[in-house]
Amino acid sequence: MAEPVTEPPEIRVGVPEHTPAESARPEPKAPRQAIFKLEGVNVLYGDKPAVRDVEVDIARNEITALIGPSGCGKSTLIRCLNRMNDLIPTARVEGRVVYHGQDLYAPEVDAVEVRKRIGMVFQKPNPFPKSIYDNIAFGPRVLGMKGDMDEIVEQALRHAAVWDEVKDRLKTNAFGMSGGQQQRLCIARCLAVEPDVILMDEPCSALDPISTGKIEDLMLELRKEYSIVIVTHNMQQAARVSDRTAFFTVDPEDRVGRLVEYDDTETIFTNPSDPRTEAYVTGKVG
Ligand code: ADP
Ligand code: MG
Repeated sequence: MAEPVTEPPEIRVGVPEHTPAESARPEPKAPRQAIFKLEGVNVLYGDKPAVRDVEVDIARNEITALIGPSGCGKSTLIRCLNRMNDLIPTARVEGRVVYHGQDLYAPEVDAVEVRKRIGMVFQKPNPFPKSIYDNIAFGPRVLGMKGDMDEIVEQALRHAAVWDEVKDRLKTNAFGMSGGQQQRLCIARCLAVEPDVILMDEPCSALDPISTGKIEDLMLELRKEYSIVIVTHNMQQAARVSDRTAFFTVDPEDRVGRLVEYDDTETIFTNPSDPRTEAYVTGKVG
């Protein structure tokens, strides 16, 4: 698997290091550097295509939102980005998913290594039935990561903005945490293995508005160091957090998902070029 290419030069002149999350509209954009390139991607389950002809470049250090009505293939597509579809026996991916210049589906690529570099957070928080500490330490232990484990655990929990809430009960079972805390624990578990990309499939749909706000603030913080792709049903959420938005729909003729439009989030929500996008974002359909 190719090593990540070097960081592009920082050009965010005059922007404070830690922009408060509540005022964090995306900052002026650095020249775009693609971390993923999807070229003619089709995904089928058995003989039935779920999503077809997807061409998108996903930028580094941005939040990319995938939106569209239920069944248009958002989950199917996000699972292509870390080879999670490999775990579904009938699923088949055609075309190319290029990550840092490397075809993710090339025979020499190790899917386990891919899932370490490209972590995933699901709709329902899924902590292991273990202590908070062991949830975080699990990945680094399996991977034989070097370093002080207490330090690794603390850093991951701090990074995921949940440390202060759990630092006095690290040895207690993760199931004792609230849903929102469990979801931040799952994000911390991703971060502990030092990923490059974080994929999130409707990470807030099981959470209350306060927990949702915390996760959204966290995403805006994490964007400084990671590239994030999020599937969301919540258009306000896409508008609040993402830099770019891809809108998908189900083609009425063949019932297969298609990418309709992909652009800066602001353009998608204020001045989309396709009438189907406009109808969706203004709530006329969907
Ligand atoms: P979304 O996340 O946008 O709601 P999905 O990616 O879940 O859409 O589904 C896209 C299409 O693929 C739907 O028609 C769905 O029924 C089908 N599909 C999803 N997962 C599977 C699966 N494991 N096996 C067969 N068909 C599936
Ligand atoms: Mg889905």
